[in-house]
Amino acid sequence: MTMLSWHIPQWNLIWEAVQKNRLPHALLLLGADDLEKKHFAEAVAATLLCVTPKQASPCGACHACHLVKAQSHPDLLWVEPLETGQVIKVDQIRELVLTVSETSMQGGLKIVILNPAHAMNIAAANALLKTLEEPSPNTLLILISDQRLRLPATIASRCQKIMFHKPPREIAHAWLQTQHVQQAELLLELANGFPLTARAFQTDNIMSLRQELYQGLHAMKSGHLDPLSFAATCQAFDVVSLLKLLQIWMRDLLRFNLTHGKAGLINSDYYAIFAEISSAISLKNSVKYADLVQNIYIKILHKLNLNKQLLFEELWITWTRYVSC
Ligand SMILES: [Zn+2]
Repeated sequence: MTMLSWHIPQWNLIWEAVQKNRLPHALLLLGADDLEKKHFAEAVAATLLCVTPKQASPCGACHACHLVKAQSHPDLLWVEPLETGQVIKVDQIRELVLTVSETSMQGGLKIVILNPAHAMNIAAANALLKTLEEPSPNTLLILISDQRLRLPATIASRCQKIMFHKPPREIAHAWLQTQHVQQAELLLELANGFPLTARAFQTDNIMSLRQELYQGLHAMKSGHLDPLSFAATCQAFDVVSLLKLLQIWMRDLLRFNLTHGKAGLINSDYYAIFAEISSAISLKNSVKYADLVQNIYIKILHKLNLNKQLLFEELWITWTRYVSC
């Protein structure tokens, strides 16, 4: 668990505090995406629990490092909802309070990571408040949240806030190369520029979804696929990923319309298909279609209760009409 290069400034804040023996008792990690903050929290815990950290990273060889790696270090506690999307319950916070009130098993720090902190219900937040007001010595609480407004102000105000940002494009790209990620440009785009999420996408089925969608768009254009039956097929797909892929597809198509070249295309392997489609759709309709996709994407992000079948029917019927003109 090494610190990512673009997290070094945030890590330096913590390491300097450790050197001065002034480590805060609670940190609140805000911004960026969840995977990034979670990775940072894990790296901080691994380094601070390591017996012989090297250049501010865990040594990877000591007993504590082995325990952290095996997720069985007795002084590291993760508090998360029991199921995704559920609340963190007061009983979980009571267990946390009990843990921090005991002396650490290994004689060093005790670290508790709360993820996501805004998932605490009111009773849970109140139970945590006492610990934040009267912290036990040698305890570090790490709260993770991307929804600061959902955290009670009484909690947030008692934590040292650390902000996370998207890494610069070239740094993200270079890191993905070191991770041997294929189609890095496309995955980074899908991940909104966050490299860890892009790497995670590689193992998900995002690339097969991309193939299914793009071949479907091509087949509808050629008249080999009926928009209604494709709408039915799409019911099984993750709608957010699909719309994201469709946005990238439209961005490429518009770029191709303007430049007629391969350069700058994210889906450069679909170059020949863009050439074929761009001769069938007018620039005006391309822009209108990109707007339609964008509007539907925004509605989905706002979690409006949309009928997926109708949504896909609208998308694919309009697409077929535009590319058949
Ligand atoms: Zn170690």
